Amino acid sequence: MTHVERGLMWFRRDLRISDNAALYQALKTCKQVYCVFVFDRDILDSLPRKDRRVCFIGDSITQLDAALNLLGGSLIVRYAQAIPTIVQLAQQLHVDAVFANHDYEPAAIARDRQVAEQLKSITCTFHTFKDHVIFEKDEILTAQAKSYSVFTPYKNAWLKKLTEPGGEFFTKPYPVFSYLRALTKPPAQLVQSIPTLEQMSFDPDYAMPISAGEKGAETLFEDFKERIEFYDETRNFPAIKGPSYLSVHLRFGTISIRELVRYAYERSCVDLKKGAQVWLSELIWRDFYVQVLYHNPHVVSQAFKPEYDRIAWEEGAYADTLFKAWCEGATGYPIVDAAMLQLNTTGYMHNRLRMIVASFLTKDLGVNWRWGERYFAEKLNDFDLSANNGGWQWAASTGCDAQPYFRIFNPTTQSEKFDPEGKFIKRYLPQLQKLDKKNIHAPSLMEPMLAKAAGLEIGRNYPLPIVQHEQARIRTLERYAIVKKQKF
Ligand SMILES: Cc1cc2nc3c(=O)[nH]c(=O)nc-3n(C[C@H](O)[C@H](O)[C@H](O)COP(=O)(O)OP(=O)(O)OC[C@H]3O[C@@H](n4cnc5c(N)ncnc54)[C@H](O)[C@@H]3O)c2cc1C
Repeated sequence: MTHVERGLMWFRRDLRISDNAALYQALKTCKQVYCVFVFDRDILDSLPRKDRRVCFIGDSITQLDAALNLLGGSLIVRYAQAIPTIVQLAQQLHVDAVFANHDYEPAAIARDRQVAEQLKSITCTFHTFKDHVIFEKDEILTAQAKSYSVFTPYKNAWLKKLTEPGGEFFTKPYPVFSYLRALTKPPAQLVQSIPTLEQMSFDPDYAMPISAGEKGAETLFEDFKERIEFYDETRNFPAIKGPSYLSVHLRFGTISIRELVRYAYERSCVDLKKGAQVWLSELIWRDFYVQVLYHNPHVVSQAFKPEYDRIAWEEGAYADTLFKAWCEGATGYPIVDAAMLQLNTTGYMHNRLRMIVASFLTKDLGVNWRWGERYFAEKLNDFDLSANNGGWQWAASTGCDAQPYFRIFNPTTQSEKFDPEGKFIKRYLPQLQKLDKKNIHAPSLMEPMLAKAAGLEIGRNYPLPIVQHEQARIRTLERYAIVKKQKF
């Protein structure tokens, strides 16, 4: 890229300085670099006023601004619509180029196209870079030059590219700190204080249970390094501190995916245990779903496999009642209810539980997966369109490489297997505190005298099961039979 006088680095889902591709390119290319973050009203205005993610962004932005200030720069922060704000700032700052990292969501792609066009009209260029994933767009294709829709061959191709000669380039960190000289503070008339959550009409007390920013991410990662080797043994048990809890940081880019993949790969080469290797595989799932969305933007509103859009989901007041019970954690299936309460009270839900509740909603309650997807999108701290859509379509069997439709999780046996002592359930359902490990997974089947002695009154302080799993299973097989009958 040819050198230019002034550039503007636009932070979006990459709220960090270290190993930031676009920031590195901006600093390397321009004599002076300004930095900006926009609290985009096109996104924020539709969110509920109690939103932990906005708190997390606010804290991360404050940290980023402080770090930039120490390094000679500063962060311009605006609460406005992104497109006109960026174009106006580019004019006011007289920059020659705007730099940002790729965002693969359809709405973001459309936004960036508009930004590029409008910048062009003021003779400013727009440069975007890969940062959020290891491999993007057409970097991993089948032998027929098509995008992958099955995970295992994708993963094999992904690992091959990473490990073949020159593959280390893909996880090499960008040496941002060698080029900081170009960081520049904006002129005083453009400096505004960072808008507070109250000023943006968000509840400031609705914070996340984990620390934000690059520092928060590094602390979590350091903690996870201590237990990564056991990841494969612990990751399925929600009562155990098994996973990394880094998803929010990956979502907002407060940690670099290259750093995580490099570490996981190196550990997988030396560890005797399989933990790092299995964790690396999860990071590959993340890349996989990003490329699925990029190549198949129809999945935002439709099933990946179109024939599955013919399924007749429950409708009307009955569906509303079922959905409400699911959202509130009142289905009478303790593992499902505890999981939903974890989501409602913390904004996090363990991966095994996401699979259980998504299967329960679609295959026990017969409710459209899109309702669950929307609920998760509103509640999850780590909500990411590609992973969420991929996860829901996997569970509902409508997606690429999804769970076959006839494989239907039994919520009670899942509970017995993955929360055998009921420790996780008891964290969120105190009324089941006195139940032993035999009864906690299906309390409605308890002998009434025994239940009463344990302080449990089914139908009063804990609901009756909203559906019977075995009957629901039969209904689901009938519901999905339409896919089998109509061969495509
Ligand atoms: C129905 C459903 C919805 C989901 N919605 C989201 C979502 O909105 N955002 C999100 O980040 N993940 C989502 N996931 C994937 C997964 O549940 C979370 O990434 C994981 O629980 C986050 O916890 P962690 O960071 O401790 O994960 P770890 O187990 O430590 O995994 C490390 C990282 O790998 C990635 N990862 C792990 N599993 C998956 C997966 N199945 N698909 C894609 N990436 C994965 C995540 O970035 C995660 O942070 C969903 C899964 C399901 C079944």
